[in-house]
Formats: sequence, structure tokens, C-alpha cells
Amino acid sequence: MNRRKFIALGATIIGFDARDMASAVKPVGAPGSGKDDQQSEFAGLPLEEYEPKSMLHLPNRLVSRCSFPLIDFHTHITEGDPNGAPGAVRLQISPETCLAVMDRKNIKTMVDLTGGYGEGVRVAIHKLQDAHPGRFIVFTEPAWDKASDPGYSRLQAELIESAHRSGAKGLKVLKTLGLFLREKGTHKLIAIDDPRFDEMWEAAGALNMPVAIHSSDPEAFFLPIDRFNERWEELHAHPDWSFYGRDFPSNLDIQEARRRVMRRHPRTQFVCLHVANAENLKYVSECLDEHPNMHVDIAARIAELGRQPHTARKFFDRYRDRIVFGTDASSDANTPQQLFGDELYEIYFRFLESEDEYFEYTPASKPAQGRWCIYGIGLPELILRKLYWENAARLIGLPADPGTAA
Ligand SMILES: [Zn+2]
Repeated sequence: MNRRKFIALGATIIGFDARDMASAVKPVGAPGSGKDDQQSEFAGLPLEEYEPKSMLHLPNRLVSRCSFPLIDFHTHITEGDPNGAPGAVRLQISPETCLAVMDRKNIKTMVDLTGGYGEGVRVAIHKLQDAHPGRFIVFTEPAWDKASDPGYSRLQAELIESAHRSGAKGLKVLKTLGLFLREKGTHKLIAIDDPRFDEMWEAAGALNMPVAIHSSDPEAFFLPIDRFNERWEELHAHPDWSFYGRDFPSNLDIQEARRRVMRRHPRTQFVCLHVANAENLKYVSECLDEHPNMHVDIAARIAELGRQPHTARKFFDRYRDRIVFGTDASSDANTPQQLFGDELYEIYFRFLESEDEYFEYTPASKPAQGRWCIYGIGLPELILRKLYWENAARLIGLPADPGTAA
């Protein structure tokens, strides 16, 4: 379906009474979609221009600083440098810009996950971690470009050992693994639990480097982009984010492959990013119960947690020692829901610390991930302290008391 047809479909949905949705979704021009069926004053309003404002009269608690010092475990201050050597990174947000926001928001430390590898990670550590002790932590990444080479397993383990000697505190694995990384020559997707990575997981565990691993994506990205897809607008804007069809594994296949890795490497600590599988906290709970070496972060998923506030509140209560705070903050315009800045953090703090109802989950002008709002879960001090600091500090080797950290 082309873009014009998508927009026509959206306009048709808005033009019809919701009770008559079955006929409303017929594209303009299809049998039964004649002019008489439409409410004329709404005809032609494209879905992408529809921005309903809530009429609820509710309090808006501005939490401009978090109540306790914070580690943002999931940010992208650096990114891969397409013009550099393999493993090279470049700053996408300046340390000075970060520090100004951090000081205003009570963020003590930011973890830059995408630090690259080889000389790249050494540069990232020099510019961030060494230049501003205690304020930035840098993780290294696997050398995916070498994954099909003979001797890769050992080389990868050595790269991690060398990054650790340079000061890297953890290993970041992007969703590349499981969805994009393919064998040279055959182009076959390489599975997360492929044995060639066993030495990598073991090296990280032996060096007490937590593995921050993003696997799979929202469930809707694995479904047809049709009128039932709750991420329709997002997928419409980014069709390349869809993993429906072709040779992609299912979301569950990917989750289970990661689970086998956690089972096989019990002394390695895994932080499954984006709540592992934020739409299905029952499944995530089963995984956390089975794997003591599993943790989760909440980055870029308050849109999911905040629309299931009762379930989420119980989840935070039960797994209070296994959840770390993260935002996925970056300066990437493709993900406006996680644009680094004061407003992003204020929304996270409002969700976690207030019991405000029905508010926007993103600083973006339009809901980026779907047309819904979220509810605050008002976590108590004990859980906030663990979520904001203690759990992440334990994983990356910072003092348990933020007051004594550098
Ligand atoms: Zn991220």
C-alpha cells in the first residue's frame, strides 16, 4: 500500500462513527465508502494531523529534579562514526550539554552505551569518563564486522579484555544481533545464541562487565502494518522498522534465544534493555524468576509501562532489585520520544514519582509510539533509591551510596 492510500485510510477512520469501524476502514473509493457515509465536516482530516487534546481537569505535578541522585543507565552520547575506522565513534551530544542538564535534573552519572570498540572506545573513555570522573561511564560494543571471520570468538573476547583495561565498564549489544547481523556470503541471520559468542559472554562475566542487551522490538513491529496495528503511524513513518515477514524470526523466538544465552552463562549479568519485552510483563516476570543473572531497564518504554500502571506498579515492587533507570536519550530526530533534554527527564520523573493521570509520555509534539497517554505509578522512596542508583551502581561497580561516589 502506498503513502497516499495510507493517508486516505486514516482520514476515513476519523470520518466515521467508531461503532461502524468495520465499514469505516474501507479505503476511499471502495464499495460502501461513498460520500453519504461520511460526516462531511470531518472528511479529509488526515490521521497524521489529528491531535485531540484531553479535556480532563487533572493536576500536573512538575517533577523538575528527581528525588534522589540518579544514574541514567541507557544513553547514547556517542554513536558509530560512519566516516571512521571500524569501532570508531563520534559525539552526538557534547559533554557540556549533558552536564548542564544533569546538574539541573539531579543526574549524577550517565552511561554511554554505544562507545564503540578498539581505538574508538578508548577515545570515548578519554573524552567522557576520564575527562569528567564520576559523571560518565562508557560501555564497549562487539566488532560485528568481524563476526564471520575465522578466529572471531577469541578475537572478540580479547577486544573486550582490552576495552576493560582501558576503562570500559560494560558491554552493549544492539538489536543488530538477532535482526540485522548476517553471515558474510550466505546472508543468513546470525542468532543471538550462536556459540561463536560464548567466549564474549564469558569474558564479560569474568571481568564483571554487565551486558546491556537490546533484543527484538515492540511486538507490533512483527505484525502486518494494517488497521489493527497499534504502531501504525510509527511504522508508516519508518517502514524499515517493520520485521514482519521475510526471514525474520518472531519476537518470541528472539526472546527465547536471549534466554538460552542467560541460562548458558549464569555468572554473566545481563541487563535486558527496554524492559526486555515491555508489552508482556508476565513473560518478563517468568524470565526474571528463572534467571537470577537477568535485570531490565525501562528505557524508551514508559509509554508501555504507563498505560498498564497497576501491572507496572506490582512489577516494580516485586523486582525492585532488578530494574535500572534508563531513557535511551540521544539527539536522533528519528526518535523524538527520547530526545535528550530537561523535558524528557521530567516526564520519566512524573511517571515514577507522581500519581498524575493521563499525560503525554513524550516531549515530542505528537505521540510517537501510539495514540495513548500514561499514568504515574508513585513509587515509594525505597524503590526509587534502588531504581535510580543502587541497582545500576552494583552492576557497574560504583559505591552503593551516591554521596560517596566521585
Ligand atoms: Zn538505546
